[in-house]
Amino acid sequence: MHFERDLIIKLAEKYGTPLYVYSEAVLRERCREMKNLLPGENVRINYSAKANTNLDLLKIIKDEGLDVDAMSPGEIYIEQLAGFENDRIFFIPNNVSEEEMKFAIERDILTSVDSLSQLEMFGKINPGGKVAVRFNPGIGAGHHEKVVTAGEKTKFGVQMDFIPQVKDILKKYNLKLVGINQHMGSLFLDWHIYIEGVKSFLTIAKEFPELEFVDIGGGFGVPYKPDEERLDLSRLAKELEIVIDRFIEQHPNKDIIIKMEPGRYIVAECGVLLGTVHSVKQNYGTTYIGTDIGFNVLVRPVMYDSYHEVAIIKKNNDDGTEEELVTVVGNICESGDILAKDRMLPKSEPGDIITVFNAGAYSYCMSSNYNSRLRPAEVLIDLEGKDRLIRKRDTLESLTQNFILDQD
Ligand SMILES: *Cc1c(COP(=O)(O)O)cnc(C)c1O
Repeated sequence: MHFERDLIIKLAEKYGTPLYVYSEAVLRERCREMKNLLPGENVRINYSAKANTNLDLLKIIKDEGLDVDAMSPGEIYIEQLAGFENDRIFFIPNNVSEEEMKFAIERDILTSVDSLSQLEMFGKINPGGKVAVRFNPGIGAGHHEKVVTAGEKTKFGVQMDFIPQVKDILKKYNLKLVGINQHMGSLFLDWHIYIEGVKSFLTIAKEFPELEFVDIGGGFGVPYKPDEERLDLSRLAKELEIVIDRFIEQHPNKDIIIKMEPGRYIVAECGVLLGTVHSVKQNYGTTYIGTDIGFNVLVRPVMYDSYHEVAIIKKNNDDGTEEELVTVVGNICESGDILAKDRMLPKSEPGDIITVFNAGAYSYCMSSNYNSRLRPAEVLIDLEGKDRLIRKRDTLESLTQNFILDQD
């Protein structure tokens, strides 16, 4: 645990809760791990920014030499604000409008299309242009069916059988296919399935000898539960190297670039979420710890049944060794508002601080104003250990800024 008790109490007092806190040191470490994964290969790492679009984190990631993926014009806009040049942004949307496609085309940002119909749309608005196509090789993986993004039961990518139609549309609009990409799903901890998916994906590349890159996707998992084993990155790298070397041997373009697009792996572990215990109560045999971390602040447990490790920091005595079985809940008016079910935690009382780990990915970015609650603030602990506000908490004014007032 890289956040000390005293620091947590200090931050909670200084900035209030709920509060997202990020460690610059951990973020940089994860960036470097990914960048150095395959030192011998022609690899580019695209951070998949949808996992966390905080401006200051993006600047650090840029400083580490990573490129970025964007899923929407909004992400492109924020990435440009963080200083990413257009040729370091890869737009991988699905089901976008012509206007959204033009947003990228006008900025010379390479776009990947996700269907024959979107390829057709792209060709019409940008004939002669460069494009990438996302394929779905029929193998998916992920921690929950909502985040499996390839395979026969998902909306993503172009089915492999449609390669002839892809070629027809490319020809019709004189498009240059510079890359193909895939993304199998999110949060795998076992490298076997990823390697299988990459192998099957690379067979598609044989159909397109002029490719400048192949993008083998993201999905690298981190352990959320204490008994989960880390993804064996060095083993994965070894296997991947074999597959890639074999692929390049057979591919006419020996300088072909291999892109990877990790999101979660880069940011998950650098973040913790702090909350405050506001009540402790018994309801028909269950002990509930009531906190200010509702699912408007962290939706993953409710949306994906995700497990997040939590800890109680006692405000008054830190040797609260007596534990009890509790369910930690938030302040949203829904019974599903459960952060952590049936956990053994130190006996807690109002005023204690609760810490939620691995809250750097798909956390703040999925927060909302449900129940007209304010989205939390974000703080960075820099390399010298100093804390700095990197996003303000919502205010009652920001909550209502889009209302049309004074209309009568
Ligand atoms: C979300 C996403 C990623 C990143 O997934 P992680 O599981 O966070 O690594 C990569 N590529 C695409 C196309 C995505 O949609």
